[in-house]
Amino acid sequence: MRAHPDPQSTRSGRRDELAANLAAVQARIAAACSSAGRSADEVTLIAVTKTFPASDVRILADLGQLDVGENRDAEAASKAADLAAAGIDVRWHFIGQLQRNKCRSVVGYADLVHSVDRTRLVTALARVVPGPEARQDVLIQVSLDDDEDRGGVPVGRLEELVSSVLEQEVLRLRGLMAVAPLGVDPDRAFGTLAERAAWLRSVVPDAGIVSAGMTADLEQAIAHGATHVRVGGGLLGRRATLG
Ligand SMILES: *Cc1c(COP(=O)(O)O)cnc(C)c1O
Repeated sequence: MRAHPDPQSTRSGRRDELAANLAAVQARIAAACSSAGRSADEVTLIAVTKTFPASDVRILADLGQLDVGENRDAEAASKAADLAAAGIDVRWHFIGQLQRNKCRSVVGYADLVHSVDRTRLVTALARVVPGPEARQDVLIQVSLDDDEDRGGVPVGRLEELVSSVLEQEVLRLRGLMAVAPLGVDPDRAFGTLAERAAWLRSVVPDAGIVSAGMTADLEQAIAHGATHVRVGGGLLGRRATLG
């Protein structure tokens, strides 16, 4: 009787599982793009690896999945250090609610911060960016039901927050992010987001990113113009803990 599974076969089992999930999610994205009359290369898949080990990020990177999302600084920083030490270059997306005292750490590894939702955070981020040659790419997170508990600026205060990001030379505003609110039709929520994204592009042409859609609603998000979808469960499997 074997007490522990053979690590090698376990690893290749996980690789097969991630490869199959990745192919399935890519097929969903391709089908959604085709229904929306969009090209599949307009949509970037971000693998949300929160609660899963760095070894999963390595496997995904090896499978060609190089955009990775995390929602907690401590966990993200440790995985980013692990991948860097292994010489594996992935793009880190910080997608969680961000506290001001975590900004310095997050700026150290995040290629794109999706969750800027208040002026005090804008100031805190700008203060820790080393200089204008290292501008930090950011998205503004919009709350689509004006329930700020899950993060996001209410739509009515978006313009004001856009102005405050644009005042910071070291931040580069690249677009908007949102999570479809619970109990609201994602089509309606993403429709509102699309309308705000069009407005933003008209003011800041470089801010064309629309980060929307998760495992359950990526089709609706793509129909409404998402350029980045953030998929956790559909790729990695069920999370042991809420994250
Ligand atoms: C966890 C998380 C996701 C991924 O959610 P799934 O339902 O697992 O695909 C996407 N966006 C944010 C902000 C998250 O926290």
